[in-house]
Amino acid sequence: MPHHRRPAAGVPLVSRRAADYDAIVIGSGITGGWAAKELTEHGLRTLVLEAGGPIDPAKDFVEHVQPWQLHFRGKGDRRTMEKEQFIQKNCYACDEWSGKFFVNDNDNPYTFDADKPFHWIRGRQVGGRSIMWGRQVYRWSDLDFEANAKDGHGVDWPIRYADIAPWYSYVERFIGVSGERLGLPQLPDGEFLKPMDLNCAERMVRDGVTRRFGGERVVTIGRCAILTENHGGRAACHYCGTCERGCITRSYFNSIGVTLPAAQATGRLTLRPFSVVHSLSFDPATRRVSGVNVIDARTRQTMEFKARVIFLCASALESTRILLNSRSAEFPDGLANSSGEVGRNLMDHVMGAGASGTLAGMEDHESYGNRPNGTYTPRFRNVTTRHPDFLRGYAFQGGGWRGGFGADSPGFGREFKKRLREHGPWGFQFYGFGECLPRPTNYVALDPVKVDAWGIPALHINCAWSDNEQKLLQDMSVTAAEMLEAAGATGIRPFVDHNPPGLTIHEMGTARMGRDAKTSVLNAHNQAWDAANLFCTDGACMASSANQNPSITYMALTARAVDYAVDQMKRNAL
Ligand SMILES: Cc1cc2nc3c(=O)[nH]c(=O)nc-3n(C[C@H](O)[C@H](O)[C@H](O)COP(=O)(O)OP(=O)(O)OC[C@H]3O[C@@H](n4cnc5c(N)ncnc54)[C@H](O)[C@@H]3O)c2cc1C
Ligand code: SF4
Repeated sequence: MPHHRRPAAGVPLVSRRAADYDAIVIGSGITGGWAAKELTEHGLRTLVLEAGGPIDPAKDFVEHVQPWQLHFRGKGDRRTMEKEQFIQKNCYACDEWSGKFFVNDNDNPYTFDADKPFHWIRGRQVGGRSIMWGRQVYRWSDLDFEANAKDGHGVDWPIRYADIAPWYSYVERFIGVSGERLGLPQLPDGEFLKPMDLNCAERMVRDGVTRRFGGERVVTIGRCAILTENHGGRAACHYCGTCERGCITRSYFNSIGVTLPAAQATGRLTLRPFSVVHSLSFDPATRRVSGVNVIDARTRQTMEFKARVIFLCASALESTRILLNSRSAEFPDGLANSSGEVGRNLMDHVMGAGASGTLAGMEDHESYGNRPNGTYTPRFRNVTTRHPDFLRGYAFQGGGWRGGFGADSPGFGREFKKRLREHGPWGFQFYGFGECLPRPTNYVALDPVKVDAWGIPALHINCAWSDNEQKLLQDMSVTAAEMLEAAGATGIRPFVDHNPPGLTIHEMGTARMGRDAKTSVLNAHNQAWDAANLFCTDGACMASSANQNPSITYMALTARAVDYAVDQMKRNAL
């Protein structure tokens, strides 16, 4: 059943009657928050329609709650999770603290064939997944934007790095990104706040990798949307370390603490929670979206809202579901689908191979605090030389840590208590994230039978890794072990975990941008070829996946698309 919480005081509700706005944004997560900020700051009266309920940080954020303050002492209510979050529980961040930020899988069903599991991890609330995301942010380069054109997979991106670079800067300056400048062509530097420090194990690995591989392989601190200095009225991070539970000091970027307040400050934002968008209406005479059809999540009442311009930001697969569900005589297979590409080319990053090892000689070093960030090793495969076995590449996240206090070891008495106070050795792990090729055979479609809690057709997801992604995984485990060996690690353990698509939570590509209306859904400004007042700027728009975490690219594309839409409106072209 849908949530029945009441909206927080102060959230303006529109009347049941359809109201007119300059702009409507569907979704209030990472991209919806950016669209709302940009549209309102450009002077547009903007309605944000959000399917989920509001969040009250004072009550709902639990990053400082200790296990002993929780009913199940942090272990979670396994029986309820099994019943209600049987998909979401596969995500590392969905636990007794943060489980409330993830969807109920019964209310939000989808289907897949038994031999093609897909773990679709979602948040349905004001703020979307910006509440519990991992905050890793990396620019793309022309290596990524040119990849499709060069190796023939997917369609050519209609933009290059130069088109988006100023928008990366614009976004970084506003949200605050900490990181180290490296001068690497495949991972352009950004407008960084000071980087977080590497710990002693990470410095040892960095130095060993540099010695063995020169500048080809690099270990740096993660670039992340977490403040290392006070910034824009928000406080620097105090290293409590469990950001997926919220952040009362607004030290990491999420839309409820950063973009939505900026939109609210203009006086032109109306945020309507509990507004499940069912579909979009299309007027064949004007060739525009003429209305947004909404079901109130609590009352089940239906209503229609109208605006001059619509920004679809409900997340890649939810936006695609809305398009597929917007059927008309003109578009029997879904709105903006004259190319037949809506729903196709689903991608996620292939994740889960690498290596771990032990590092000796630093037994007198301890760590303090919980740095909410790890290391990053930018892509080094297929950058300057072509690999014989696979296309594209991967990057490693990871980090060094001091081993535990032996709490899991057996025993009793004085010796046991002593052991509990002893540190373990220092260790390090590389964990790879690889590029996924765009392929039409990875697709979503409306399930003919299944509907969600609001009666809206659910998705059937059909997605599997290809041989190329499997080869990337294998290579990750080899190169990670090589780098640990170069750092002098012992007990090196290469591994290859076979995670299903979806679990990396970077799903994208199902309404791609392109140069040609016949083979893509959106043009170079995220505008639907088939409906000029419709823009989609979430992950659905991606023509390829690169290997970098994608959300900062979605944010930059969103700000860029709003700039274009506003310009078109001023010229009366919209
Ligand atoms: C644990 C975790 C770690 C992650 N780590 C990273 C990371 O380190 N770096 C990175 O780049 N990305 C990361 N991601 C992915 C990142 O969260 C997403 O890429 C990003 O949130 C996508 O933004 P979005 O606006 O498209 O969707 P979301 O942020 O999911 O927001 C979509 C919003 O639309 C609403 N909505 C959906 N359907 C409808 C509808 N029909 N009507 C109205 N509203 C609707 C939803 O309720 C939601 O609020 C992570 C995600 C998770 C969960
Ligand atoms: S670690 Fe920093 S960013 Fe994360 S919740 Fe704590 S203060 Fe906020």
